[in-house]
Amino acid sequence: MAQKRDYYEILGVTKSSSEDEIKKAYRKLAIKYHPDKNPDNPEAEDKFKEAAEAYEVLSDPNKKARYDQYGHAGMGGGYSGPQNAEDIFSQFGDIFGEGSPFGSFFGGGFGGGGGQRQRVRKGSDLRIKLKLDLQEVANGVEKKIKVKRHVSCNACGGNGSKNGTSLRTCPTCNGQGQVRRVQQTMLGQMVTASTCPTCNGEGKIIDSKCDVCMGEGRTLAEEVISIKIPAGVAEGMQLSMSGKGNVPPRGGVAGDLLIVVEEEENEDLKRDGNNVVHELYVNFVDAALGTSVEVPTIEGRAKITLEAGTQSGKILRMKGKGIPHLNSYGKGDQLIYVNVWTPRVLSSEEKGILERLRNSPNFQPRPTKNDKSFFEKMKDFFN
Ligand SMILES: [Zn+2]
Ligand SMILES: [Zn+2]
Repeated sequence: MAQKRDYYEILGVTKSSSEDEIKKAYRKLAIKYHPDKNPDNPEAEDKFKEAAEAYEVLSDPNKKARYDQYGHAGMGGGYSGPQNAEDIFSQFGDIFGEGSPFGSFFGGGFGGGGGQRQRVRKGSDLRIKLKLDLQEVANGVEKKIKVKRHVSCNACGGNGSKNGTSLRTCPTCNGQGQVRRVQQTMLGQMVTASTCPTCNGEGKIIDSKCDVCMGEGRTLAEEVISIKIPAGVAEGMQLSMSGKGNVPPRGGVAGDLLIVVEEEENEDLKRDGNNVVHELYVNFVDAALGTSVEVPTIEGRAKITLEAGTQSGKILRMKGKGIPHLNSYGKGDQLIYVNVWTPRVLSSEEKGILERLRNSPNFQPRPTKNDKSFFEKMKDFFN
């Protein structure tokens, strides 16, 4: 242990100095060596602590009397002055009375024992796109996806210090994360609060940083996350999983994972709300004679019957073969739009057959009231 300097010498006072003189002397030194004015200056910090220790003894009549009689030895074996900067700051309230600018500066923020609570910090949200095919949309699906996210560092438990040792309360702001400054203006004293420059508003100081996360308190990890997609979602919908986003630096609550739904296009089935639409092309003979045809559905292929005399533009409805409603019971339908295909190329033999039918009475259009136009049928379906 280095030889301790004399307390009177440190403060530049004598044994006969008054209480007031001792106080003034300490105040001068405390301002001169204040860590706020001397960032990253360990020598100033030592001087600052030394002065505080001297003042603590010389300002207390009992301790002063013991010191006067026995010197440093009188302070007891274990005594080494205030243990940490926090203790030093708790004295400022006494030294700088409320009337002085320093009273507001030091006394207000320090030693009060927690006026403002620091709010819980939340990490950023993560946003991912998730492509689903029509079957997954219709049935719901559980997807496992890889997500790169910031997670709490295992090596330090998330606080960013080596081996997770507890952090030191910031001496500049006493853990408040804010410093208040008093300025003299024409209108009087103005108190402004600003983010503490020593700890960047975190209120804590890391003396030795964790090697794994470099003091960040978090690491980037690839995680497989299982996402349950309910049936009936649609393009552009956003689902969120709380707590699966990024953890903020040095502790706090993780943000959310936002999942944006993208629908994969299906060549055969187009979605229209909760209905799916299939455009069916049938040849002229099948439409006239009737037949059974296979159509694609969400669940695979299905057979439907075309009646003899089916008109182009007819809409067939397969009830309940659509997509479930997301937040209620029931499902949409599958609609089949029938298009009768008119041949574009004909052989001379085919032409001959058709020529013979051209003037046949049954081939003359005779629409009844039931044969509504395509547009009227569409109106019926969607009204
Ligand atoms: Zn760490
Ligand atoms: Zn601070």
